[in-house]
Order: sequence, then structure tokens, then C-alpha cells
Amino acid sequence: VFRNKLEFFAAAKMSSSFPSPTLPEIAFAGRSNVGKSSLLNALTRQWGVVRVSDKPGLTQTINFFKLASKLCLVDLPGYGFAYAKEEVKENWEELVKEFVSTRVGLQRVCLLVDTKWGMKARDFELIELMERSKTPYQIVLTKTDIAFPIDVARRAMQIQENLKNNKSIIDPVVMVSSKSGAGIRTLRSVLAKIARF
Ligand code: GDP
Repeated sequence: VFRNKLEFFAAAKMSSSFPSPTLPEIAFAGRSNVGKSSLLNALTRQWGVVRVSDKPGLTQTINFFKLASKLCLVDLPGYGFAYAKEEVKENWEELVKEFVSTRVGLQRVCLLVDTKWGMKARDFELIELMERSKTPYQIVLTKTDIAFPIDVARRAMQIQENLKNNKSIIDPVVMVSSKSGAGIRTLRSVLAKIARF
């Protein structure tokens, strides 16, 4: 299924324009510049659909993509973008929060964390919210190619330790690099299981 084209079908700036949930959904969240677009591209082997931009935080809509009419991948706008206007920032953070806590059909949220930076306050905020709404989520450590394997493993263990008392977290931390391709197959098979391909 991941060999198929990722087909963009909706963008939403507010909850009233979310498309009706007809497919199982997997959402991708994380700070701006965490490597979300690159990961979506690497997962689906399709270059050019999800735009990789140099300027972080440009995506201010929730974007919905269909994968072979079996699964919906949801690209949530990156948060923590330092130079966005305050009111714009609030609006899209509210949108992300509303989506992850109320969306019917949402099977999982992949929370992306940059290997270099680790988890930040905004990540914990989102996690708290998902815990409260009992939304299943997993942590995906990105850009693992930038660090030594031992440091990547250490980072993953640290995250696991931080979240060990949480209830809605699922699966161990998945370590990926969109650049080298490491971990992409693992993540694909985790996601395929959710969608029951
Ligand atoms: P987004 O803002 O979360 O969608 O992040 P992007 O996918 O646009 O990536 C942000 C920056 O990180 C870009 O300069 C990418 O080239 C870089 N990047 C993304 N994935 C990787 C990776 O796996 N390894 C490395 N070294 N850089 C990456």
C-alpha cells in the first residue's frame, strides 16, 4: 500500500471543514522543522506531493491524504514556530488540539521528535492532551542520521523513561531517518498493522 501514490484530498483551517472520517486515520504531529514532510514522503516513496519547505511553519492547515483509498494520512501543522504571529499560532495550535482529542476514526498520532533536540514543552502539552482524550500515540525519533547510533539509542531510552507511566502511548519509540532510509520499513509495518492491510 505504501508504494501507492499519496493523494491529497482536503485541507482544513477550522474544524468545520474537516472531511467526514471514512477511512482509518494516522496523524503526524511535531514541532516545525522536525522532518514531518520528509518522513511522509519517505514513507510513501512519493516525492513532490508533500512539499518540503525551507521556511518552517508554512503549513497552517491540516492536510488530509489518501493512500490507496485504504488509509488517510493526516499532516498536522507544526507547532512551536518562533516567528509566527501570536494569534495565528494560537489558532492552529487549537486546531491541532481539537483534531487529536475529538477526531473519530483517528487510530494513532505519530508524534515526531527531532533526535537533536529531544522533547520540548509543546510536545509534552500535546501528550498530556492525548492522555486526557485517550488518543493512542507513538513517538517517532527523526533525523537519526545526524547522531551516533549510541546517542540515538540513548535519546530513545530517555523518552521511553519519561513517558513510562503514560497510558495511551503505544509501541516503543521508532527511530527513523528520511535521509538514509533507516527505520522507514519498520514504521511502515507498524502503520500497516494499524490499518490492517
Ligand atoms: P517539517 O517542517 O517537519 O515538515 O520538516 P521538513 O521535512 O520540511 O524538514 C525540515 C528540515 O530537516 C529540512 O531541511 C530537511 O532537509 C531536514 N531533514 C528532514 N528529514 C531529515 C533526516 O532524516 N535527516 C536529516 N539529516 N535532515 C532531515
